[in-house]
Amino acid sequence: MTFLSHALGALAFTGLAATMPLAASAQARAHVHGQIKLDIAIEGPTVVIEMESPLDNFVGFEHAPKTDAEKKAAADAVAQLRAADQLFKIDPAANCKLGPVTLRSAALGLGKAEAGAEGHADLDGSFAFNCTKATDAKFIELGLFNAFKGLRQVDAQIVTPDGQSKRSLKRPNARLSWGGGK
Ligand SMILES: [Zn+2]
Repeated sequence: MTFLSHALGALAFTGLAATMPLAASAQARAHVHGQIKLDIAIEGPTVVIEMESPLDNFVGFEHAPKTDAEKKAAADAVAQLRAADQLFKIDPAANCKLGPVTLRSAALGLGKAEAGAEGHADLDGSFAFNCTKATDAKFIELGLFNAFKGLRQVDAQIVTPDGQSKRSLKRPNARLSWGGGK
């Protein structure tokens, strides 16, 4: 999708948002091409990462894949997202292993997903890690910028037993740290 057509789509949706419930308009604002939203929760023995992203960030389009090239791009992106321990390299101090990965995208026919705004589509995911010392984790090295060239910014909220923090990372800065992590 070109920048212009996306901008027009976003404008059209902004006009609609005024008459929509608050939750729906908040969701619309979250869909910005080039940006990913992460909610990271460290609790007990687990690190759980919830991801919301425009599908465009991973494959460069936002519709059901039609051509062979689009089908390959979708399959490649899904394979990369399932290998989530390469995209989210958690502080080795926490000693984590990748657990269940769930991906949701209506356009790709993955999981239970709501259709996006007209002309747009999302690919969301849940990534669970099982750790022996989860609360020792003080950073995550993100492989997302290397894996997905269209991605420019990651906005993260991190919740740990010590409290919660927000971080915004812009390419090429790939280290998400908190609680004194460097
Ligand atoms: Zn979009």
